[in-house]
Amino acid sequence: MSAAFEIRARHLWDGKTGRTGLVSVGVEGDRVRSVGKDGAPAPAGGAEILDFDDATILPGLIDMHTHLGINHQTGDIRAQMKDPAVRHILAGVQSLRTDLESGVTTAKLNGDREFYDVQVRDAIREGSIPGPRLFVSGRGIKSSYCTGGVVATAIVDDAESVGRCADENLAAGADWIKLFSSGGIFGTLEAVLRPSYGFGQLSAAASKAHAAGKRMSSHCFGGEAADACIEAGVDVMDHGWLLTERQLEAMAKRGMWLCPTVGVLTHPEGVLGHLPEGPKRDEARRRIDAVCATAAAALRIGVPLLAGTDAMHGGLAYELETLQDLGGKPTALLMAVTSSAAEVLGLAGEIGVVREGAAADLVVVRGSALADVGCLADVLLVMRAGKIVKKGHTLLKARKFSWPRYRRGL
Ligand SMILES: [Zn+2]
Repeated sequence: MSAAFEIRARHLWDGKTGRTGLVSVGVEGDRVRSVGKDGAPAPAGGAEILDFDDATILPGLIDMHTHLGINHQTGDIRAQMKDPAVRHILAGVQSLRTDLESGVTTAKLNGDREFYDVQVRDAIREGSIPGPRLFVSGRGIKSSYCTGGVVATAIVDDAESVGRCADENLAAGADWIKLFSSGGIFGTLEAVLRPSYGFGQLSAAASKAHAAGKRMSSHCFGGEAADACIEAGVDVMDHGWLLTERQLEAMAKRGMWLCPTVGVLTHPEGVLGHLPEGPKRDEARRRIDAVCATAAAALRIGVPLLAGTDAMHGGLAYELETLQDLGGKPTALLMAVTSSAAEVLGLAGEIGVVREGAAADLVVVRGSALADVGCLADVLLVMRAGKIVKKGHTLLKARKFSWPRYRRGL
């Protein structure tokens, strides 16, 4: 008989709503068998009881923006992109394990070298290596004049070539298409907002993705490129760091998803941490203030929200805590990393929820995540497809590092 568990705690986030009072989630095999009040009869044959008391049971979390072979916490990501294949993949396998043990049971990879991500996705699916369930983008697609997108390896300029690259990615097994319509975030505002793709290229990629029953996301900071993304039917905008209120409102109206990835900028081990002290770093801090103001406006306006770490592996709790600091409500943020992400990935009802019959991808964290998403950094249990992958208290790094408080000198 397959393993059975009865997980008990005082709070439950079921993917859509929160509940406080003793709750019990039964697991049998790789499925959730029951969701009820504590004290329900144990299944025949006996189940292992995991009682956590003051803790929250949640669906496994979904990181909607990360990468396989790069990790902002371990140095120069440009150099990591050039590492020999074996080193690059080994680093990726380690990073995905970190993600899984932090509570991320599903992740979307946003472009990587060649098609390593396809192979790693399949190896995880077959059970050869541990890791979250993956959705992969194959090669990121960018123009020859794009100043950012270190991870992109398909470099083409015209709409026809973009469409061809999208087709090649899909043929190689990509689940998503990923484009770069802006460059790097630092430098003059004019340069940062200069579009690297326009409507033609974006709609070429979107139509290829949609014709194959897939979705696409675009790295974009704002300016004309953002208008083009909104108009071209891009499903998810990654970053959106310098969008105007008008653009945020247009996204909300169209129901277009935003994945802000603010933490990769503000975390002490993220992008800022790699800049040398001096005028460049001061300028970067001011740019990050502007990014945070945009994210706060997106939260206020209610743009459909997703969340991602952008290769800050194990940092999804930090990302959510940052968005909470910027005005995000815990329930809206929990929705972003559970049922909303599941919907965007086409797996609504299967993942991102705790309900009878759903996949037994579960996380238990200390305290009430319904009141404070910072609790997601206090991981007590991670279960993937009914198997325990991490048990025992782990405190994820950088909890309570707050950019707004740091900027106010607190
Ligand atoms: Zn990225």
